[in-house]
Amino acid sequence: MQLDRPESQTGKAPLALGPAPEKLLLARPNSRVRLGVAKMQRIKRSQDLVEFFGYSTALFLTVMFLLDGAVSQIVDVPTALSAISRLTALVATDLLLIHILLVSRVPWIERLYGHDRTTTAHKKLGKPILYLVLAHFAASLVQYAMLDGKNLWDTFLFLFFDVADMWIATIALALMITVVITSINMARKKLSYEAWYIVHLMSYGAVMLAIPHQFSTGSDIAGKPIQQAFWIALYFFVALNLVWYRILSPVVKSLRHNLRVDRVVRESSDTVSVYVSGKRIEELGGKAGQFYLLRIMTASQWFRPHPFSISAAPNSRYVRFSIGNRGDDTSLMPYLRKGTRVILEGPYGVFTEDRRSKPKVTLIAAGIGVPPIRALAESMAAKAGDIQVIYRTRTEDDAALLEELRTVCDIRGFRLHVLAGSRGEGAAWMPAGDARPDHQRLLELVPDVAGSDVFICGPAAWTRAVEKTLRRVGTPAENIHAEEFAW
Ligand SMILES: Cc1cc2nc3c(=O)[nH]c(=O)nc-3n(C[C@H](O)[C@H](O)[C@H](O)COP(=O)(O)OP(=O)(O)OC[C@H]3O[C@@H](n4cnc5c(N)ncnc54)[C@H](O)[C@@H]3O)c2cc1C
Repeated sequence: MQLDRPESQTGKAPLALGPAPEKLLLARPNSRVRLGVAKMQRIKRSQDLVEFFGYSTALFLTVMFLLDGAVSQIVDVPTALSAISRLTALVATDLLLIHILLVSRVPWIERLYGHDRTTTAHKKLGKPILYLVLAHFAASLVQYAMLDGKNLWDTFLFLFFDVADMWIATIALALMITVVITSINMARKKLSYEAWYIVHLMSYGAVMLAIPHQFSTGSDIAGKPIQQAFWIALYFFVALNLVWYRILSPVVKSLRHNLRVDRVVRESSDTVSVYVSGKRIEELGGKAGQFYLLRIMTASQWFRPHPFSISAAPNSRYVRFSIGNRGDDTSLMPYLRKGTRVILEGPYGVFTEDRRSKPKVTLIAAGIGVPPIRALAESMAAKAGDIQVIYRTRTEDDAALLEELRTVCDIRGFRLHVLAGSRGEGAAWMPAGDARPDHQRLLELVPDVAGSDVFICGPAAWTRAVEKTLRRVGTPAENIHAEEFAW
């Protein structure tokens, strides 16, 4: 099914918004959107293909391991330990490369799964990989100790000092343990994002340091041309994706488009909009609802990129971010100078109209979750009445982008519900002052919410509460789309 652009939106000229002299121009909304289940099935098929590719690498390694006579060689405890050590090493290394690929933000993975799901999958893989590596280490150590008739400590010292590249591999293991421990929720909460980020860079170090011993002493790689070729191809594949998409491509793009801060505009007491402009900015692509990693190229900030959603639909004049003061770097945004160079990594994320399958849409924002919702309202293909917007804010007088949302909704014939006020009791996400449960209040605002696609953006706990209410009123899980501002 396709939706046509509303009559009022078909003109060539962009729409004027807001008071002069800071005249803001709205981009023309998408002219059509493909709806229905077929689109979601296509995405699912592509996901299946990527997952098949991932599983098949582990399968290939296991088959090569078995063809090498790994099972028939087991005759006693040391040979059994050798088999365990070899298989755990192969699977762990393969999973480690997949683990890295998941956060390398390569577009062909990001576009299918989105930032949230790839990050969740990456987090889930961390512990199993560590357990496999520890099993590999323990099995090798005990096997050598049994064969040499030495105790474990002496064997460890022998391996560390006398076996080629083993000391480097041991450091790799220590780095890996540090990375996993700092990722465990309790420890993670105590670390600043920057400290956590630096520790995580160590996982790349761990992978690099583990390589020499795999090629010099690894029974399944050393001296075996097919296996060597496979591993080299796998390492190169991951490294090229990582280096190109995370490092080189953003730098090349930012230099080519000469991306710089054009202006900073205050939106509320704690939020500013940062306008980035440059040459042929429309070629950056991107969609409403997506985000970039913004790297401000000043001496104190260039090494600390932060993710921000675009708060206006992509256009030919600027990329705009609306940024709330939440900490060290966001508090510096109001002081950015015009002309400061920036690097944009992205666009990323699947919180876009591509995931919509219904004609009716409900957009729900809270606080600084409003930027992607504002951009989606501007760009979504819709007829008047198709879209309802709910904006949850503490106070209407100090709500970032509220006036713009009002104007967008007026022009496009959407309904805007501003829910202002302090928090309700317990897990309630609607404002206090109404005794009815949230699901009743939601149904009163948007009676057909169960039959619409719902896009939610706000704090994590608040988003969970909205999702719970949506499930209660019967909105299917596949029609609930949420963007979490979490690392
Ligand atoms: C996909 C996504 C889109 C986002 N879009 C917006 C947006 O449009 N507008 C907006 O104001 N904020 C947005 N954020 C949140 C924003 O990235 C953080 O508020 C910002 O990075 C905080 O930086 P800081 O140095 O000021 O904070 P810090 O002093 O470092 O920390 C303050 C808080 O911000 C969180 N934080 C810090 N760095 C990051 C990071 N790189 N990624 C995620 N969280 C971080 C920390 O958990 C901490 O709770 C988004 C986050 C994500 C993940």
